[in-house]
Amino acid sequence: MRIDVVTLFPEMVDHAVAYGITGRARTRGLWQLRLWNPREFATDAHRSVDDRPYGGGPGMVMMPGPLAAAIGAARAAQSAEHAATRVVSMSPSGEPLTHARVAQMVAAPEAGYVIVAGRYEGIDERLLQQEIDEEISIGDFVVSGGEFPALLLIDALVRHLPGALNDAESAVQESFVAGLLDCPHYTRPEVYEGRRVPEVLLSGNHAAIARWRLQQSLGRTWRRRPELLRQRALSREEQQLLDEYVRSVDS
Ligand code: SAH
Repeated sequence: MRIDVVTLFPEMVDHAVAYGITGRARTRGLWQLRLWNPREFATDAHRSVDDRPYGGGPGMVMMPGPLAAAIGAARAAQSAEHAATRVVSMSPSGEPLTHARVAQMVAAPEAGYVIVAGRYEGIDERLLQQEIDEEISIGDFVVSGGEFPALLLIDALVRHLPGALNDAESAVQESFVAGLLDCPHYTRPEVYEGRRVPEVLLSGNHAAIARWRLQQSLGRTWRRRPELLRQRALSREEQQLLDEYVRSVDS
């Protein structure tokens, strides 16, 4: 997968992806990253990329020109390798990022992505209208720049690429994959500060362990994120496990 990021802080992105799963997958050639700094596409002596907002008010706005030139260069670089390039802007006004959207983006292998990271108060609206295919938000809060949001999107995408995870890191049991939260995890010691590991996990009974984990996932989702359960049909076995969980909490 080819990802190009347009950012005023390319080193920030380059360094952050070097660790762990994203770094290993990049070394193995499972994905490629190119970085584009709009400042290098600025046309005035000061290399300006931002200016004061029309209409007044605080802060600065990213100018459309340098961004359009940087996006254009990224598009051109991608067009050699990809049938389709999608240009994504990170923005609090975007569509909230979900597992389903990440899975969709990974499932389109012909697509390369150009991710635009904003700074200041944001980006001139005309640039968004002209160059951006979609805006993506990482949640209902504001951070100072699009670099961390872009990194979150990249990490979420890369860990879904075939071969990015070891068996030990398998993604299939993770939160949201089956529309549920993850079950609790335990490791040694068997007793920690007086708290024991649940007996079933020591039993060696794989079917019982799988049932317990599914029940914990269902129960947690019911308690912490009930709206996720409303979006998902339960099988008969799942419904029974959840009913049993709810009864045990009630009593
Ligand atoms: N004035 C904007 C916030 C700008 S923050 C507003 O109120 O919506 C500067 C940049 O940080 C944005 O352009 C965007 O790229 C990034 N950013 C901040 N919060 C974000 C979020 N929740 N999701 C995605 N990107 C975000």
